[in-house]
Amino acid sequence: MEDILNLINGALVPAAGGTWIDDHEPATGRVYARIADSDERDVAASVKAAQDAFPTWLGMGREGRSQVLHRLAELIEQDLEAFARAESRDNGKPVHLARKVDIPRAVANFRFFASAILHEQSEAHLMDDVAVNYTDRSPIGVVGCISPWNLPLYLFTWKIAPALAAGNCVVAKPSEVTPMTAYRMAQLCAKAGMPPGTLNIVHGLGPKVGAAITEHPEIKAISFTGGTRTGQQIARTAAPMFKKLSLELGGKNPVVIFADCDFEEMLRTTVLSSFRNQGQICLCGSRILVERPLYERFRDAFVERVKALRVGDPADPGSDLGAVVSGPHMEKVLSYITLAREEGGTVLCGGERVRLAGDLADGWYIAPTVIEGLGPACRTNQEEIFGPVVTIAPFDTEEEALSVANGTPYGLASVLWTNDLKRAHRMAHRLESGIVWVNCWMVRDLRTPFGGMKQSGVGREGGVEALRFFTEAKNVCIKL
Ligand code: NAD
Repeated sequence: MEDILNLINGALVPAAGGTWIDDHEPATGRVYARIADSDERDVAASVKAAQDAFPTWLGMGREGRSQVLHRLAELIEQDLEAFARAESRDNGKPVHLARKVDIPRAVANFRFFASAILHEQSEAHLMDDVAVNYTDRSPIGVVGCISPWNLPLYLFTWKIAPALAAGNCVVAKPSEVTPMTAYRMAQLCAKAGMPPGTLNIVHGLGPKVGAAITEHPEIKAISFTGGTRTGQQIARTAAPMFKKLSLELGGKNPVVIFADCDFEEMLRTTVLSSFRNQGQICLCGSRILVERPLYERFRDAFVERVKALRVGDPADPGSDLGAVVSGPHMEKVLSYITLAREEGGTVLCGGERVRLAGDLADGWYIAPTVIEGLGPACRTNQEEIFGPVVTIAPFDTEEEALSVANGTPYGLASVLWTNDLKRAHRMAHRLESGIVWVNCWMVRDLRTPFGGMKQSGVGREGGVEALRFFTEAKNVCIKL
């Protein structure tokens, strides 16, 4: 059984307390590795290492840092297949998805910010004959990055890459549910030429390691992606210390389908936006609203497609869905299906755990589930389920669709299907979400602002937004 160790000051080490947490393989439900069960001592050692490394990392300049991050990207890419298999084994997602999306995106995150830092511009504000102002942006020093389990290496690197590129040293914590690829990446940092202490990775439980990162006075900024409740806890602890916070939280995303859309493309994409990664993408659409004239046609075609999806061994190229990430998460998702039935919903397909054969019999599989007959205010339509479960409902007017789409505490992403350009602009403007996809889903340009409104988060990641988050802006005013 493999040991997943911390990366502290360039060394791979067990937790100071010497204890371990089990790491499960969702496909079989079995323990297959153990994770360093770290605490505040490991975080303190990481902060000290990061503080010591800061002058060296900053002194390497943009060019030097860019080269290290490019090299790290290259090393991950060289080992892409092993990373993809490790991600799939740790998370339960199909290997083909990790190979096509997760790991290439982790590589792209490093490449993007390694390049972005070389092309960064600063502003100057001229006051006629009075003075010139320019904006000086400096790295913050030691920053914390905390990430979730659904897109493990993808979201871990989405934070670490801009933090490092901007010149910070990092104390990072991957999810204890899916720590494996962060550990594999840790093994490559020295080879990429990263000075010891620049990036420290502390494994372990959220309330121990995550809380210690949040509480540490020398960690001046925290970039967090995860659940809304955890985000609230972090905000509560960090606010009195005036830490900079970027919070990417939960969602309950609407998909609004008008009768004038391209039906086939909409249908194909809506199957993906509902069930990709077992529905465990914060950007998945879980409330599908369909203009009434199209409703029955959509429902019948959609259910037929969903029934044809194959839930199976994540290693099998023919599996559309693999396992959900953990036993407790499977129970949570199944409990929402029970709730939907209690609330009066009709399960059109799925609705239960899937038992595969042989070695996979105890794996955590759920059939993709479509539910109709629920009003917008019920818990099933208000709370984040984060699994392969969607509801469908008809609407009559644009106003009604907008009011239902905006009628949750969340505001992360929306998907809109229409060929009416004016309506697309009108709706996109009024939808309360940080991202609106029109006639597409998950099309990502890393330069664009990424994040949510309302209880889906505070701040934005991506492109210049991330580099700004990880720096302090100073205006320098020089009298002419
Ligand atoms: P989570 O909040 O349970 O955990 C996220 C991370 O926070 C983990 O590393 C965890 O160990 C850590 N953590 C837990 N308690 C902590 C504490 N008290 N202090 C500090 N850190 C703590 O979330 P999860 O279950 O891993 O991920 C699923 C959630 O993430 C869903 O709500 C999903 O919508 C959200 N998510 C959001 C985005 C986005 O971009 N907005 C992207 C992916 C996932």
